[in-house]
Amino acid sequence: MAQPQYKRVLLKLSGEVLMGSQPFGIDPEFVAEMAAEVKAAKESGLEICLVIGGGNIFRGMAGAAKGMDRAQADYMGMLATVMNALAMQNALEQLGVPTRVQSAIEMDKVCEPVIRRRAERHLEKGRVVIFAAGVGAPYFTTDSGAALRAAEMRCDALFKGTSVDGVYNADPKQDPAAKRYDTIDYDTVLADNLKVMDASAVALCRDNKIPIVVFSIRERGNLARVLAGQGVQTIVQ
Ligand code: UDP
Repeated sequence: MAQPQYKRVLLKLSGEVLMGSQPFGIDPEFVAEMAAEVKAAKESGLEICLVIGGGNIFRGMAGAAKGMDRAQADYMGMLATVMNALAMQNALEQLGVPTRVQSAIEMDKVCEPVIRRRAERHLEKGRVVIFAAGVGAPYFTTDSGAALRAAEMRCDALFKGTSVDGVYNADPKQDPAAKRYDTIDYDTVLADNLKVMDASAVALCRDNKIPIVVFSIRERGNLARVLAGQGVQTIVQ
């Protein structure tokens, strides 16, 4: 594999990538596949921070749409991200990759709290650090959590693995003429309301000059290719 151009990266995966072909929840086989991709990326010499969403289990907005109190539903969503983080930690450690989970909601029986200096030490020692529970507050998403941790941990880039291979000027599933950008600037993403990440996450990356690399996580081996600066992707910068 070509030499990666980054040293430390934050990888954001939506919860949906853990559910495989199931309608919801966690499919251990898929988690193992994702863990193998992360392992390959780590073996290329990168320091890896990981943030996993919770949409495969629970989304606060969905609960609120059905009449729940939004903040209460969001806390449930944050707990879902901790379950995903533990599932990924299990899969990574089964592959021999030492991993620590740090949660923004303290849960000392199952993982560490978020402590930046400790996370630094884990990365130095070659561990993958999974940041769970987003920013630890309702009305946010794990995209904002990913942008926050990427800034805090001084990551060289935020890699957002999704089901599409980049950012388009229209929804490629609806419009066959939709065009994919190779690069695009933060302000165009915000002004045109392009569906990359939440506006607050994009703004945080912009203000801290963290490039966002959007790529498809569905193709096997793509993460390693994209990290090496190859493969199909859109860079928001
Ligand atoms: N959430 C939250 N604050 C955060 C991060 C997450 O309230 O800082 C809640 C929110 O309800 C969200 C859910 O956790 O819907 C799951 O996260 P997200 O929707 O970002 O997961 P993804 O779409 O990436 O799977």
